[in-house]
Amino acid sequence: MGDSRTAGVVEAAEPGFTGLLGQDKAKMFLGRALAAGRIPHAYLFRGPDGVGKRLFAGRMAANLNCGRALGGAACGMCPSCRKFHSGNHPDFIVIGPDQGSIKIDRIRELIKTLSYPPYESAMRVVLLEDIHTLRREAANSLLKTLEEPPENNLLILTVESSKTILPTLSSRCQTVPFFPLHLDDTVSILMKEGIDEKTACLLARLSEGSPGRALLFNKTEMVDMEEKTVAAIRETAAAGDGWVGGLLQMAELMAGLKENLIPFLGLLRIWIRDGLMAVVGPEQDTPAGVVGAARRNPECFFKKLQAIDRAEQELARNCNRTLVCEILLFRLQEAERKQG
Ligand SMILES: [Zn+2]
Repeated sequence: MGDSRTAGVVEAAEPGFTGLLGQDKAKMFLGRALAAGRIPHAYLFRGPDGVGKRLFAGRMAANLNCGRALGGAACGMCPSCRKFHSGNHPDFIVIGPDQGSIKIDRIRELIKTLSYPPYESAMRVVLLEDIHTLRREAANSLLKTLEEPPENNLLILTVESSKTILPTLSSRCQTVPFFPLHLDDTVSILMKEGIDEKTACLLARLSEGSPGRALLFNKTEMVDMEEKTVAAIRETAAAGDGWVGGLLQMAELMAGLKENLIPFLGLLRIWIRDGLMAVVGPEQDTPAGVVGAARRNPECFFKKLQAIDRAEQELARNCNRTLVCEILLFRLQEAERKQG
């Protein structure tokens, strides 16, 4: 899917970022700085989770230190490049939240490290992830370093788009915006990770253009579970009122997803929307298996979507997870039965 477009993006990419899909703005910003040899003290990569901020930071580090760089673009093959790509370079430091926040001790330790020259490269790169988790005291201790880092150090801070950070931090950095990836690009990335096309398409839609989130969802085998849930709803709907064991069992499994339950409900929403499209969309698009769909009542699909909305609201109010899932599945089953 979308081969010509994807290929076009790769060819048109800034030389230092070949092979990375999407993020044209970031490529342009960073590529220009590399070509001109004008790198600021610090960058702030701002964008959704899982769209490539860490990858780009690693690539920046490689570009800045490649012994055979051409026009600011790393060769990708020299020992320095290989170490940066694998994230195992002694001059590529990654600091992220530990139990919810970046601790002040880590910042103090970092400041000390920065007072020494890099081990083996021209430019040490420090990646500070999820900077919004930095408490005020830790943030303050970082300010001076951020304003005037010791020579031969580049700081790259990342923050999730919806989070706010202290203006004293952001004003000391050059902001580079990151965006959700195009659906086709997300699917290509997921397929390169060995995920089959059908699952990749579903995960790409669910993650809204965040391959990182999609891969997390994949780990929990969410798509497999969604198929089982839909099967349980259909089977029990077909069997009438009598048999509910399958639904109760599914509700238990769903509740076990914990923080992934909300994204899982997103998968069920995609299932319902696809069903609705098959009913109201053009006849030739109606998939096999949706025989007689036109006779069905689209109202049932809206009932299902409402049931999911309600479940989400109940979860937001911290209602008992298993109970919420049970009620949801019974509501979905009822709508499915009326759909016939
Ligand atoms: Zn190289």
